[in-house]
Amino acid sequence: MPALPEGSIATRYWHRLEDDRIQCDVCPRRCKLHEGQRGLCFVRGRENDQVLLYTWGRSSGFCIDPIEKKPLNHFLPGTPVLSFGTAGCNLACKFCQNWDMSKSREMDTLMDQARPEELADAAHRLGCRSVAYTYNDPVIFLEYAIDVARACHAKDIKSVAVSAGYVCPEPRRDFFAHMDAANIDLKAFTERFYKKICGGELAPVLDTLLYLHHETDVWLEITNLLIPDENDSDEELEAMCAWLAQHLGPDVPIHFSAFHPDWKMRDKPHTPAATLTRARNIALQAGLRYPYTGNVHDEKGGSTFCHQCGALLIERDWYQLGHWGLDSKGRCGQCATPLPGIFEATPGTWGPRRQPVRLHAF
Ligand code: SF4
Repeated sequence: MPALPEGSIATRYWHRLEDDRIQCDVCPRRCKLHEGQRGLCFVRGRENDQVLLYTWGRSSGFCIDPIEKKPLNHFLPGTPVLSFGTAGCNLACKFCQNWDMSKSREMDTLMDQARPEELADAAHRLGCRSVAYTYNDPVIFLEYAIDVARACHAKDIKSVAVSAGYVCPEPRRDFFAHMDAANIDLKAFTERFYKKICGGELAPVLDTLLYLHHETDVWLEITNLLIPDENDSDEELEAMCAWLAQHLGPDVPIHFSAFHPDWKMRDKPHTPAATLTRARNIALQAGLRYPYTGNVHDEKGGSTFCHQCGALLIERDWYQLGHWGLDSKGRCGQCATPLPGIFEATPGTWGPRRQPVRLHAF
């Protein structure tokens, strides 16, 4: 067997078809590959009669972010998270906000080499409480993400997946077994949107939400990016929030965030702040306890309130924390109702800043 190309590893989520093509079984796209072909994500491909991952140990860059930027509002608030991604993606969203990385087919985008142990050491030395697999979807580089998560757990650093949840059951189970928290991007609540705008399907994403909430201990939050006239109607938001309340219960936080024109969708306006507030009100009416408005200045929509007594528990202005109303056990300081999530006795003090990092330069 010839040596594998640098940065590549053999993978196991694939099988051979009767016509001798090999099908990748990582995501519902199920790319069917001839020798030498890459999948749609471009980071997996067939070589030497097997499917390789070409981006093990390579990253498109590192940043320290506030955990609220992932966004996670109920997971170690105020703490710094070392964020990184690779290249490629298994969806083709026309509005992609990270398209320079997710659509990259140039492996030189992946200039930073990072072995899992180096990454865990860096996170530890930089004071990060967690590492986030983000910017592009980590399910396409799950073998690398799992190795990083293992190295991080050995140093008591947690792992956060930022994903669209478009993944098949077996790799999903293996990947999320190593994650402590996830933000799943629920892009819309119609198959039409997923098919026409993202080149994917809604049903597998809903399966991932059900799986995470009911069959794992992964702390789950959801993001819903609202695009004017595409996925922001009252009817669609009411249907989505009713489904979430019925199937996931009232305690999974949801972040309604604002679209800005990008990539192949530049003909739509920015999402008005009023749309985010409308979505938050619909979620509250549906019985969801922790709906947030995201990436806007909106202290009411960005803050956490006790669902029992209404007390302000965590004040936020964008990524800046203010008043802290939880006791040392993560309960409401006024009525002692527990707040769902992962909290420490006191909040972190990282603040709203974002700090790029060269992994080998400190
Ligand atoms: S992970 Fe990549 S290669 Fe595999 S099915 Fe999905 S898009 Fe295709």
